[in-house]
Amino acid sequence: MRYHVLTLFPEMILDGLNTSIIGRAMNKGLIELNAINIRDFSTNKHMKVDDYPYGGGAGMVMQAEPVYLSYKSVADDIISRTGKKPRVVYLTPQGKVFNQRMAEEFAKEEDLIFLCGHYEGIDERALELIVTDNVSIGDYVLTGGELPAMVMIDTISRLVKGVLNNDDSAKYESFADNRLEYPQYTRPEEFMGMKVPKVLLSGDHKKVEQWREEESLKRTKERRPDLL
Ligand code: SAM
Repeated sequence: MRYHVLTLFPEMILDGLNTSIIGRAMNKGLIELNAINIRDFSTNKHMKVDDYPYGGGAGMVMQAEPVYLSYKSVADDIISRTGKKPRVVYLTPQGKVFNQRMAEEFAKEEDLIFLCGHYEGIDERALELIVTDNVSIGDYVLTGGELPAMVMIDTISRLVKGVLNNDDSAKYESFADNRLEYPQYTRPEEFMGMKVPKVLLSGDHKKVEQWREEESLKRTKERRPDLL
């Protein structure tokens, strides 16, 4: 899986994803992260990438040209390597709200381009030309698309073969089968007077399975009945 992130803040993407499981996956070459600075494609002598909105109104808008050129710099390469146009995800509060199903679908791709907006957003013409998917991470407004891109990259990477030490971890997690996961415990058996449920110490796999099934259903009913 190769991620290409078009952004005004590449260091935020690189620093943010460089640790723990995702950092290790990069070191192992299971995923590749390429952050492209949109500002490098400004044709303005002051390297400006934004301007006032036509029609007036608050804030600045990212200009179409540097966004388009930054896209071309990666897309042309991908097209000549794979023969197909990559999917381009624009992170926007106006998109479809991201979920685990969408992550599973994106994980099938070999290359994904993420486009991060800033200020009031991006000139609509660049979006019309390059974007294939508009994705939001929730009904609230952030200052930029970098954190949403990182949220998506983290979620998708966990589904890439070999990224998690045990590939089963992703299979039996929350949202698999529209359920939340059952409660988890580890040593010690007793903590501040609270004991681990007996069935988990029984060694009876069938019973443990049944208990987990029941707890998962109970928890989903309590916390997220909309999933059922
Ligand atoms: N003016 C835009 C609107 O009302 O739809 C919001 C612009 S927002 C301040 C700046 C950038 O942050 C957006 O272009 C987008 O890339 C990103 N962003 C903000 N909220 C987001 C969300 N919930 N999901 C994904 N991206 C978001």
